[in-house]
Amino acid sequence: MKNTCKHTKTKNDERVYCFTAPVAVYPYTEENRAAHGNICYDEICCECGATRAVLQNGSHYEFAPWGPSAAELKRREEEKKERAREAAEKLEDAAMQARDAKVVEVTPKREGYSKMVVIKMGGERKAVALYKIKEAAAQKDDGDGLVPFYRAVMRHAQEWERKEEDKYARSY
Ligand SMILES: [Zn+2]
Repeated sequence: MKNTCKHTKTKNDERVYCFTAPVAVYPYTEENRAAHGNICYDEICCECGATRAVLQNGSHYEFAPWGPSAAELKRREEEKKERAREAAEKLEDAAMQARDAKVVEVTPKREGYSKMVVIKMGGERKAVALYKIKEAAAQKDDGDGLVPFYRAVMRHAQEWERKEEDKYARSY
C-alpha cells in the first residue's frame, strides 16, 4: 500500500545517537556535510508513524528518506519469521514422509513412566519416550535429516495431544 501522507506533523524520538554515517539517499534526499559530526535521531510522523533518520549539527540538517513506521517494520519482521517457520515445518514434514512415519498416539504420563510417542513407521509401531525425541530434536542439525524428522515428530505429537484434548472437551 502506498503511503500518501505528507508527514506534516512530526515529533522527534527522544533517543539521540552520535553521528556515525550520512543518512541521505540521493536523489531522494541531499547530503549536507555541515550536518555531519554531531547527533542523529529519528523523526516520527504523528499521522502515519513513518520515520526518517535526521542528522543535526547546530542549525544544519540532513535527512534520510521517509521509511516505514516501527510498527510496520515489526510486522514485516514477524511475517518473515512466520514464513521461515512454515518453510522449516515443510522440510520437517518431508523428513517424516521420507521415513513413511506417522504419530499415531501419545500415551499419557503415568507414575514412574515417561510419556511415550507411538510412531507408525513403514507399517511398524514404535514407542519412543517423548524426552528422547525432545533430546534428538534439540541436537545440532548435521544434515542427515534426523533433526528435522524428530522436530516433526514432536510437533505432530503436540498436535495429536491437542486434538485428543479437544475431543475430550467436546464429549462433556
Ligand atoms: Zn505521515
